Amino acid sequence: TKAVVPIESLDSLSAKSYPLCMRQLHEQLRLSHHLRHGGRLQYGLFLKGIGVTLEDSLRFWREEFTKIMDLDKFEKQYSYNVRYNYGKEGSKRNYSPFSCLRIINETVGPGDCHGCPYRHCDVSNLKNKLQGYGVDPQAISEIVDTSKKGHFQVACSKYFDTIHNVDLGLGINHPNQFFEESQKLLK
Ligand code: SF4
Repeated sequence: TKAVVPIESLDSLSAKSYPLCMRQLHEQLRLSHHLRHGGRLQYGLFLKGIGVTLEDSLRFWREEFTKIMDLDKFEKQYSYNVRYNYGKEGSKRNYSPFSCLRIINETVGPGDCHGCPYRHCDVSNLKNKLQGYGVDPQAISEIVDTSKKGHFQVACSKYFDTIHNVDLGLGINHPNQFFEESQKLLK
């Protein structure tokens, strides 16, 4: 059985063990106390996958969203989706967290933060983000060049190596795999 991940550890995990697609959603949520539907779905399922319980997920989203709306609105409009992700509403399917392929092929509009940043961010934006995270300039140029060539998952693997200071060249095909590989290294 998988270990339970407490939501109090998400800020530190997002910097240490999240792939960029999830790190940017986490940070956007902390910053604006809101995510649009695509982001809530992508990040919400990822959280379920890393071991955040339904109760903790509800608390996590509630604590952020109620900074900009009242509790009643949150309960009416958003808590359903959180429970839905955990298979507690609607068709009660056990939804799986999205794979890289699924995320890379998402349609991302202006104001959206979901999708894969190597695919969906423009180059200067991607560079700024990586610089802001203190990624070494040589690694940034490799990551950006690889993304420009359309090798998004390879770029992601380079990001993995640079933040962990390793040279594994993992084949990344799932954000939750990225997370698990990272946690293995950090343990
Ligand atoms: Fe996320 Fe996959 Fe893109 Fe990496 S390659 S940022 S894990 S979607």
